[in-house]
Amino acid sequence: NVPLQEEDREIYDLIQKEKYRQYSGLELIASENFTSMAVMEANGSPLTNKYSEGLPGARYYGGNEFIDQIENLCRKRALQAFHLNSEEWGVNVQPYSGSTANFAALTALIQPHDRLMGLDLPSGGHLTHGWQTSKKKISSSSIYFESMPYQVSSENGYIDYVRLEENANLFRPKLIICGASAYARDWDYAKLRKIADQHGAYLMADIAHTSGLVAGKEVNNPFELCDVVTTTTHKTLRGPRAGMIFFRKKNDLETRVNNAVFPSCQGGPHNNTISAIAVALKQAASPEFQQYAKQVCANAKALGEALISHGYKLVTGGTDTHLVLLDLRPVKLTGSKVEKICDMVNITINKNSIPGDVNMLAPGGVRLGTSALTSRSFKEQDFVKVAEYLHRSKMMKDFVLACQDNEDISNLKNEVETFSTSFPMPGFD
Ligand code: PLP
Repeated sequence: NVPLQEEDREIYDLIQKEKYRQYSGLELIASENFTSMAVMEANGSPLTNKYSEGLPGARYYGGNEFIDQIENLCRKRALQAFHLNSEEWGVNVQPYSGSTANFAALTALIQPHDRLMGLDLPSGGHLTHGWQTSKKKISSSSIYFESMPYQVSSENGYIDYVRLEENANLFRPKLIICGASAYARDWDYAKLRKIADQHGAYLMADIAHTSGLVAGKEVNNPFELCDVVTTTTHKTLRGPRAGMIFFRKKNDLETRVNNAVFPSCQGGPHNNTISAIAVALKQAASPEFQQYAKQVCANAKALGEALISHGYKLVTGGTDTHLVLLDLRPVKLTGSKVEKICDMVNITINKNSIPGDVNMLAPGGVRLGTSALTSRSFKEQDFVKVAEYLHRSKMMKDFVLACQDNEDISNLKNEVETFSTSFPMPGFD
């Protein structure tokens, strides 16, 4: 029973450094969050020792009495957290991540080489929704299936549903995927359902980014009109890193999804992770979490408005969710430069392509999300301050100057550190 600190000092020290980096900086990556101590405790438990291929009650290994109870509890809580009725909906909580959940969902819904349409990566979609370039099929979702991505309008940044419908009439997809990684607006599920029905296609929503907001009823509910809903569990939902697939109990989808996860795409479930998802789902069904989801959206609005007041432009002019997409082209900066400068002052963000970008290697914007800092009790006025720090980082326009040891950078870094460490964080008293 040697503690990590003694068993492996190198790894222990690096974990401590990363922990302090998270605590002392402003975490604005829209896909990240700070999960609770309880979730981390379950995730780091001896459940990691157990093999349990199969589903509760039908395993390929012995010794699963308690593992079965944990997975059943997780499934029950998943339906409760998303306000679903167990007669209409089921869920598989075994996917190791959002990407594997999506590939398993595709495996369940369509046949190899069937056609699918998802939001293009440069428009804010995810790799697993059929990403390919004009030269290369990149994601397995475009290698094994035929993909024709749809786009946002380069004029206003919103999904171009008219064009999507026109292209669907030509392409006649078997599956339409909605959901995104970098889209600040809500989805019109009724329009998508209508288009899918015209072709007898399945409609799948990947709510990886917004699942906490769906549970908190802050955005439109995809469950009303979609056949399958996939999600990660570690973004706005604030759980451990994993995925889930919800399916309607029709057309044999229950068997198809369960078989696609195991044995088609995965082996033994990660039971430690499933127990941690169960803890996060219990939290997500609480009134405190509803309040959290509300605050995440209010904070994103406050951040967006504060940036606009500093003279910046947002894609679509605002947000309905936890993220804003900042268009840096009018201030003649690239996303990569601003990301690097922000790194130097302990502000963590990511470069992102902006509708209309021509050079994918030099994206014209950055994506900013409020879910992580809201977990540290940031409110609207704190995000006004965050916008001010971002503005000051961006002012270091001369990148070469910023890379040198200059006082502006070190002063701002110190200010950011003092500000960040004044907020609570799981694991820090
Ligand atoms: N789907 C969407 C919309 C995402 O944004 C992401 C990750 O950022 C994923 C799926 C993939 O999740 P993971 O990184 O857990 O594989």
